[in-house]
This record gives sequence, C-alpha cells and structure tokens, in this order.
Amino acid sequence: MQSKPHFTREQRGFARRVANRMLTQEHIETPSDSDPKVIYTTRIMIDGKVMCDCRGWTIRKKYQPRQCKHARELIGSRPTRTDGEFLYVVGYQAPPMAEEA
Ligand SMILES: [Zn+2]
Repeated sequence: MQSKPHFTREQRGFARRVANRMLTQEHIETPSDSDPKVIYTTRIMIDGKVMCDCRGWTIRKKYQPRQCKHARELIGSRPTRTDGEFLYVVGYQAPPMAEEA
C-alpha cells in the first residue's frame, strides 16, 4: 500500500499561490468599488491568458469570453484573441524583469 502525500488546506493554498505567481507575468491590484477592503487581482499569465478574480469575471456570460473592466484596463490597447472562455493578449511578450520593491 502506497500512502498518498497529505497536504493541509493551507499548504495547498500556498502551493497554488506560488504557482500562480510564477506563471504571472503582469498584474494589477484594484480595490472593489463597493468595498475598498476587497482587492481584486488581475493578471496576464505567461501564455498571454488574462485572469481576474472579481465577480464580473467569475460570472461568465454564455457564449462570451470572460472579461471585466480590470482586464480591459490591464490589457490596454494590446490586441487580444478569444480562445474558449478566455481572452489572450496576442503575441504576448513579458515585460523586462523588474526588481520587486
Ligand atoms: Zn476584474
């Protein structure tokens, strides 16, 4: 019998955050309009995929790609394409590495 490695919920959450961070190329944090204590994080992943964790993003409209004002702000004038439910920045190039403060 092989025992499965057991991870606590905290460990899994931590691993997910680390993975997300490694795959994230750009991100912005925007306080919610309705509750400034709530901060939404909008990301562009290494493959150009745009992600956000606000309500507008998570509630998907049928047959439309996910989007929200944060995603539009982060994307700016860059061209995007739709693949399934997600928006991708076309020909995404990561910005030059910046030292984090
Ligand atoms: Zn959003």
